Amino acid sequence: MSSKSLELTRELRGYLLDTCREPELFQQLRAETATLPNASMQISPEQGRLMMLLVELIGCRRALEIGTFTGYSALCVASAMPSDGRLTACDLSEEWTAIARRYWSQAGIADKIDLRIGPALDTLDALLADGAGASFDFAFIDADKSNYMNYYERVLNLLRPGGLLAIDNAFWSGRVADANVNDESTVAIRTLNRALCDDQRVTTSLVPIGDGLMLARRR
Ligand code: CA
Repeated sequence: MSSKSLELTRELRGYLLDTCREPELFQQLRAETATLPNASMQISPEQGRLMMLLVELIGCRRALEIGTFTGYSALCVASAMPSDGRLTACDLSEEWTAIARRYWSQAGIADKIDLRIGPALDTLDALLADGAGASFDFAFIDADKSNYMNYYERVLNLLRPGGLLAIDNAFWSGRVADANVNDESTVAIRTLNRALCDDQRVTTSLVPIGDGLMLARRR
C-alpha cells in the first residue's frame, strides 16, 4: 500500500521530541508517571504540544477534560491558557490526581484547574443542568472507551459553536483497523470514529499523532 504519511521511525521520533522544547517540569511528570502500572495512559509530549497550540489558536478560556490521570494533558492545556482561563478536569482517582495536583502547583497553574472527582457523566450532566451549555472553547476526552459516545454527546452540547473537541486513542493501538478485534472498547472507538465523520454538527480530522487524535470542531 502506498502511503503519503512518513513512517515514524525511532530516529525520526527522537528528532521530533528534540524539536518539542518540552519544559523540564513536564519531563519530570512524564518520568514519574512512567513508573506507574498504567503509564501507557499518558499522552505523548508531541501530542501535548499540539494541544497547547490548538488551545492558543482558538483563544481558549474555558476548557474541559474527561480523564485526567496524572495531569500531563491538563498541565499542557492550562499552561496554554491566559491567567483567567479555567479548566474543568474530571477523573475518578484521588491517587492519580494527587500526582497531578503536585505538578500543577509547581507549575503555578493550580488556580486555573477545577478538579472534579467522580463519574464524569455525572459531572457533565451537572454542568449542563447548571446552564454551562455552549460555554466551553475546548474539550479533551481520554477516559473509559465504552462511554465515549455518551461523553461525546454531552461534551458537544457543552462546547460553543466554533469550539474544538479532541478525542484520544482513535487508533487504539491499531485495533480499530483489525476486523478480528471486536472487544467492547475497540467497537466503541470504531463506532465513535464513524459517527463523528458522518456527523453534520462537526468538522473532523483524525490526526495520526500518538495513538490517533480525533479533532472535531463544533459548527
Ligand atoms: Ca489516552
